[in-house]
Amino acid sequence: MGRTTHARFPWVNYIVSGEADALMGALCWDILHRGKDIPSADLPFGVFGPAHREAGYPSTSRRDLVPRAAIKNMRDLPLPDFSDYFTELERSLYADRIHPGLPLEFSRGCWWGERSPCTFCGLNGGSITYRQKPAEQAVEEMIEMSARYGLSRIEAVDNILAIDYFEKALPSLTALPKKFAIFFEVKANLKRHEVEKLAGAGVRWIQPGIESLDTRVLKLMGKGTTAAHNVQLLKWCRQYGVRVSWSVLWGFPGESDAWYSEIAACLPLLHHLQPGRTVRLRYQRYSPYHYASGKYGLKLLPAASYRYVYPLSEGDLKDQVYYFEDNEDNDVGGHYIAGDVNRRPGLQAVARGVDAWLRSWYEPKRPILSMRDSGEELTVEDTRAIAVECKHRVKGLKREILLAADEGVPETLLRKRLAATNVRQAEIDAGIAEMTARKLIIRLDGRLVGLPLWHPYQPMPGMTAFPGGYFDRRAMPVGIPRA
Ligand code: SF4
Repeated sequence: MGRTTHARFPWVNYIVSGEADALMGALCWDILHRGKDIPSADLPFGVFGPAHREAGYPSTSRRDLVPRAAIKNMRDLPLPDFSDYFTELERSLYADRIHPGLPLEFSRGCWWGERSPCTFCGLNGGSITYRQKPAEQAVEEMIEMSARYGLSRIEAVDNILAIDYFEKALPSLTALPKKFAIFFEVKANLKRHEVEKLAGAGVRWIQPGIESLDTRVLKLMGKGTTAAHNVQLLKWCRQYGVRVSWSVLWGFPGESDAWYSEIAACLPLLHHLQPGRTVRLRYQRYSPYHYASGKYGLKLLPAASYRYVYPLSEGDLKDQVYYFEDNEDNDVGGHYIAGDVNRRPGLQAVARGVDAWLRSWYEPKRPILSMRDSGEELTVEDTRAIAVECKHRVKGLKREILLAADEGVPETLLRKRLAATNVRQAEIDAGIAEMTARKLIIRLDGRLVGLPLWHPYQPMPGMTAFPGGYFDRRAMPVGIPRA
């Protein structure tokens, strides 16, 4: 994109393709002293200057042949200086309504995508190679930046939380006398104890790549997780009071609308968990859908709206833009298909189901499904709209089944375990059937997934607690429209 911008817009003198941190200072110094006439041989790798328009652009062995500067060692990056922002903020008319957070960076690239990129993801550009700051440094930087600006909200701008931070950073954050409020994007395959650890360390808002509640769709996107695990994750996050930003992505090549009917059928069971939103898939540059489009049967064209923005030929647009549409899809905008119950009844049902879920989540009395165990009997309180009873008493074999389902046990394994203790198949069938009929368990991916939380569970942070900061619209003076 940078090379095309440079080649096609002669009023742009210099472009840095890739990560500019390490070269920006010296480049600016050079431009100030030498202007537009820096010979191409004197420009750092990844920088295009006027001389390249004459001599031709350099190329590399990368997939798109375009050079791209990349930082190898995150450890050496300087801390950002936000002081001009805070000086402005003090003077702002809205100072008392803006509650800022500190955007901080601890890694680049994606350790999951490095091995197996999600088919839709173009987030990492050409540098998916994962690079991270050491965990100790990350904690030190949080402490230093928080002290410098007097703020405890921290939004990590990373694509994905580093694996070793669980062992090496979270304990130090947990031990701090005053906790930070931290946001991280994370891989969705977290375990229960990891969610608990995050919450204890102040990471009370996460964006896991949940993306769907159907394992077949998750497979299409190469997400490396399952619907059963995603439901478990939503449950644990609700248990430990970790807010989740997530979506049901739809529109994947090869998906079946019938799968969405199945998703829709399970949504009412989840009303005590945090809802997501439905979002149509968009084809991004750098994603497998883009660079291996033929493999997925796609013929991608630049998204139509770009033609109104850039006065470029179709060929240049292809090199210039980030979003694409499938030429074979006669509904490229997605509006028709999304709104057409005849063409996508399953998807329509999911959209309606998610709306209903959101409505119930924002009701003054949020639905509850939680249980306590006396050691002999589970007492389950259920205030979901689909509740069969508001109080269930679950004993004996059914209690064992519900406890095992709390861990998302594979059904065959549970059956084997119970059979080994001389429980008859008919009793097992009846126990599982009753727990599912009471809507306390769902079957997903050959697993029995128990839905109740454990009582007591942690309160969920409110919208205003977003670690990236928030703007308090409620306090707007009369006459200023709400955004
Ligand atoms: S979607 Fe997230 S996990 Fe998947 S490749 Fe992109 S950054 Fe990595």
